[in-house]
Amino acid sequence: IKYVYAFGEGDRDMAALLGGKGAGLAEMTRLGLPVPPGFTVTTEACRTFLASGAEPPELHAQTAAALADLEDAMGRRLGAPDDPLLVSVRSGARFSMPGMMETILDIGLNDDSVVGLAKASGRERFAWDSYRRLVQMFGHTVMGVDGDLFQDAIAAHRAKLAVAADQDLDVGELHALTEEFKEIIRRETGEEFPQDPAEQLRRAVRAVFDSWNGERARVYRHREHISEDLGTAVNVQAMVFGNLGADSGTGVAFTRDPATGERGMYGDYLPDAQGEDVVSGVRDAVPLAELKRLDATSYLALGDHLRTLESHYRDLCDVEFTVERGKLWILQTRVGKRTAQAAFRIARDLREEGAINADEALVRVDGAALTRLMFPRFDVHSDDVPLARGVPASPGAAVGAVVFDSATAQRRAAEGEDVVLVRRETTPDDLPGMIAAQAVLTSRGGKTSHAAVVARGMGKVCVCGAESLTVDPVARRLTTATGTVVTEGDVVSVDGTTGTVHLGALPLTASEVGEALENGTATSEVTAAVLDALAHADAVRRLEVRANADTPEDAVRARALGAQGIGLCRTEHMFLGERRSLVEAMILARDDAARAAALGALLPLQRADFTGILAAMDGLPVTIRLLDPPLHEFLPDRTELAVRLATAVHPDPHDRELLAAVERMHEQNPMLGLRGVRLALAVPGLVAMQVRAIAEAVVERRRAGGDPRAEIMIPLVGTVEELRLVRAETERVLAEVTEETGEDLDLPIGTMIELPRAALTAGRIAQAADFFSFGTNDLTQTTWGLSRDDAEGSFVPLYLDEGVFDTSPFETIDQEGVGRLVEIGVEAGRAANPRLETGVCGEHGGDPESIHFFHQAGLDYVSCSPFRIPAARLEAGRATL
Ligand code: ADP
Ligand code: MG
Ligand code: MG
Repeated sequence: IKYVYAFGEGDRDMAALLGGKGAGLAEMTRLGLPVPPGFTVTTEACRTFLASGAEPPELHAQTAAALADLEDAMGRRLGAPDDPLLVSVRSGARFSMPGMMETILDIGLNDDSVVGLAKASGRERFAWDSYRRLVQMFGHTVMGVDGDLFQDAIAAHRAKLAVAADQDLDVGELHALTEEFKEIIRRETGEEFPQDPAEQLRRAVRAVFDSWNGERARVYRHREHISEDLGTAVNVQAMVFGNLGADSGTGVAFTRDPATGERGMYGDYLPDAQGEDVVSGVRDAVPLAELKRLDATSYLALGDHLRTLESHYRDLCDVEFTVERGKLWILQTRVGKRTAQAAFRIARDLREEGAINADEALVRVDGAALTRLMFPRFDVHSDDVPLARGVPASPGAAVGAVVFDSATAQRRAAEGEDVVLVRRETTPDDLPGMIAAQAVLTSRGGKTSHAAVVARGMGKVCVCGAESLTVDPVARRLTTATGTVVTEGDVVSVDGTTGTVHLGALPLTASEVGEALENGTATSEVTAAVLDALAHADAVRRLEVRANADTPEDAVRARALGAQGIGLCRTEHMFLGERRSLVEAMILARDDAARAAALGALLPLQRADFTGILAAMDGLPVTIRLLDPPLHEFLPDRTELAVRLATAVHPDPHDRELLAAVERMHEQNPMLGLRGVRLALAVPGLVAMQVRAIAEAVVERRRAGGDPRAEIMIPLVGTVEELRLVRAETERVLAEVTEETGEDLDLPIGTMIELPRAALTAGRIAQAADFFSFGTNDLTQTTWGLSRDDAEGSFVPLYLDEGVFDTSPFETIDQEGVGRLVEIGVEAGRAANPRLETGVCGEHGGDPESIHFFHQAGLDYVSCSPFRIPAARLEAGRATL
């Protein structure tokens, strides 16, 4: 097996074998850029080493041969006593893991060659500084000596001479320091610093292999979802020296500004320094303009090479470079990381410059980046210590006075104050307070807890699961891990993008991208670039994007953001607040007449809700879901009620009646209880009232000259029989209203597919349905047999840590299981009813990865929270490429 490739033998497509750095060095060598020669030991050799604890047998001979070639090319021998060749030994995995693994410079120096280097270069100080660096780096990285021991020794020398920088240590001092370093190694390891250059090289390569499993690297891979099995390549490269005096130096450069995306070369330069110095920040670098002043020839050459790289990679590139006595060398390149804003700007600019086409430009950006750009942000300084950190559940930035209950939130907000609602966790009871608040903060629950889901739906800032906070709603205060107490009325800043909470009001910057998306006009290069990407996504996508919206305000906003209708209009919010007493009356009704009276009172209210939403979405489909949650959610809490009754001097008879009802309706497992279509069948008159309200709203809108497109959706169906019964009732009511008004009311009637049985029997269900909407939240719960609210706070974090889940199945659809049911449902449904429309509502409808899956599964639309619509449009477009 070939384990060693000279730089000239590889190319950029070999990153899996040569690592990103090795592939980049190979490609630059091919392009004729000035790269110090060298060779790459493959990731395959690393994998063998890590698995067996020994290098593959062929490696030794292959490395020796490659080194001999390198020596011939350079006309010098590794570590030779006169004019030695020195090399760097550099890690480089397939995916960039900057600074996570080891690199060792100046291999080949020893007590003899340091003298040769001094003579050949004519710089004695430089030679001893390099030797000192090698002993230090080798001692720490390869021989495992605590790095602080070396640092302390340097500091002692500086202190003795009363100088500030290593720069100021002279030859004698560096000589003494090197001896001290060797002594430290001897003392700590019982071993000598190896003088044999070949041994240095062999051990350095090994140390780089081993650094793959270092703590830092492992943590990084876990966070970035990089596989543990890839291993790293090792690049052995002839050293060039930026620390040879004022005509030398080292730096990093980008082909464009990676922060803003602006055109033109951008970077930092550090005169008289070696590569490591820039990254470690021992001295302050200067802008590239300074290089232009110092060494115009190298500056112009750098510009040329950057242009070559960018037109070759057709993307933003960054490089590490070194100038050695006026000669420029390029040491590394890769397609550069960039901010969200720069990503959009660069994609558009490259397209306009003709480097890439519109499809490629769309691939270069993504929905997550767009979402990040849409929210106002705090100007946080790195030294601001947050009060707490939680899960960034719903992005954006908000400032307000802390309140601990829904009623106070409503009251203070009504007085014009901005408030932040703080709860241990939220329930449907907190909804009015959540609406009134600028942000919601909880100490329990994850990204799909009630607080998170509802807040995201409303586009409200939310941080949840800030577990270090102790929330005491009775005393109206919260306590942080460090003992800071925040009481009602204190102002906090909540950052839903990063998940942090700060004391006091941090300064806010509004998002111009958010504003530009809502009114469709570009106000800057960035907003123009975002609108540009979206326009192309809209042109190529097949999936429609609809919104989950329950109020006219949400519908208006969603439409402005590009929604092509409403895919899920929940009606349960319409049963809360002041209407609660009517709902109570309906539930407590002793006979049909009393129930009819209560429903009759709800009817005009519901009709008005629907009229508003249909007006906001005029001409576009509005899918209205009939009441879904179990009725006890609309009644007071059982324990609270029992306590109130037990402690009252004169117990309220109404309370007593209520408690009886609550107890009657209590369920062990409400998620699987009397809800959805079951409720529709069990509560006489409920479906009729809702359908009538919809039908009358449609008639009203038509008579006002509108084009209402209501669709009626029945939740939680498990068998076609359920759907048949409710459908018959729905059609009966529609016919009634047609009779009364003369209006033709042939509204589409469909169902949610959110039980495995529904997906498996989709062929039969489709016979009674005009459309399917996959409720993937419930479908995930019912397929996995786990309750979202319980799982998120308990074992999901463990499962993520242990790698049972890559991501939470509530965030990204589980393609193998839940996704398979969606595919079965679509296929069987369409086979039985070719005109069947299919879509998905629920959190997954706005998740980039899930959207790509839904595109492939052949759905007609996805539906998501209004604020996720732009990202969903973008991803639906990207899914086609
Ligand atoms: P990382 O992956 O952490 O960036 P590198 O392998 O790129 O590590 O090396 C760290 C630093 O050492 C870089 O600044 C690089 O420019 C410098 N360096 C590496 N090899 C050489 C070399 N052959 N000559 C001069 N400087 C080098
Ligand atoms: Mg580097
Ligand atoms: Mg559901």
